[in-house]
Order: sequence, then structure tokens, then C-alpha cells
Amino acid sequence: MMKKTLKSIVVASCFLALTSGPVFASGSKAAKPSPDEAIAMLKAGNDRFVSGKATHPHTDAARLALAGKENQGDHAYATVITCSDSRVPVELLFDAGVMDLFVIRVAGNVLDVDEVGSVEYGLAHVNTPVFVVLGHTQCGAVTAVTKAVQGHGHQLERNIPPLVDNIIPAVKKAIAYNPSAHGDDIIPYAI
Ligand SMILES: [Zn+2]
Repeated sequence: MMKKTLKSIVVASCFLALTSGPVFASGSKAAKPSPDEAIAMLKAGNDRFVSGKATHPHTDAARLALAGKENQGDHAYATVITCSDSRVPVELLFDAGVMDLFVIRVAGNVLDVDEVGSVEYGLAHVNTPVFVVLGHTQCGAVTAVTKAVQGHGHQLERNIPPLVDNIIPAVKKAIAYNPSAHGDDIIPYAI
């Protein structure tokens, strides 16, 4: 039941393949999956999760011991940016484990300078062949910003306004590209 609920949460993901061939971590001869292979691994993991057949790979003591001495750049196959939200447990959703995913989390899965730097690290140093932008249903950040753009916002406190201001362009694009959608119907497009 829990898994079905989680399945319904993830509504938008964007896979960006970064190169066309196998990826080699700097300073290592270990071949990593090609972008297409990495996307296939993510999709297969998500299929296992959705169907209740997760294998929970790379979560045993041997993997943890490996993580204690090896370069994550030899193993991780995707950089993922997603929302800070307890309903989006990234490794579970992709049935992945330790040293598999390089994850950045921020409200609304948008990029400001710190997130851009983290993504650059994931791509240039952890050397992941794909970059995933992962949105989710019931995103409170996108919902709040959508309502604010529509003139129905409520006061946001302290440091939250500058945290979520990068969501505004996405909401404005969602409104521009979907002229027949109104009110809360804009929210899924913005996500
Ligand atoms: Zn969210």
C-alpha cells in the first residue's frame, strides 16, 4: 500500500544524457554505464519498486565497507536533483543503494548557485553519466509559489521567500504554455 502511494507521487522526471559513450571516472580505469544504460538502470529500478519487487541492491555490509575506501566516482551512475520532501525517498524509488546515486535536495528541485555547484560536482567529479530532475505530486513549494503568482499567496517567513523564488519562472512558463488551465490545475504543469 505504501509503495502504491509512493508510485503515485512521482509525476515528473527528466533524464539528461550527458555523453554518448561509456564514462570513465577521472583517475580510474573503471568503466561506468553509458547514459542510455544508466537511464535503463534507473527505469528498471523504479519498475522493481513500483511492482513490489525491489531487491535493495548495494545495501549490505560489503557495500558499506567498499564505500569506506573507494571513490564514489567509480560507482555512482546518476546525479539527481529532487525536492526536500519525505515522500520522495530517492534511493528507494529507484531501488538503488550506497554509492549509486549522487543526490541534491532542495525545495521545488530548482537550481540556485549552491545547487548548481553541487550538480557540477556530481557531473564533473563524481562523473555520473546522467542528470535527473525529479518532481513530485503534492509539492508544497511549487503549490505555494503557484498560488502566490496567481495572487492568492500567504506570507512566507524568514528565509523561505529567497529559497522558493527560483520556482517562479517555472510557474510563469506553466501558465503561458497551458492557457486553458486555471487555478490549482496549473500546479502539475509547474511541477
Ligand atoms: Zn516538493
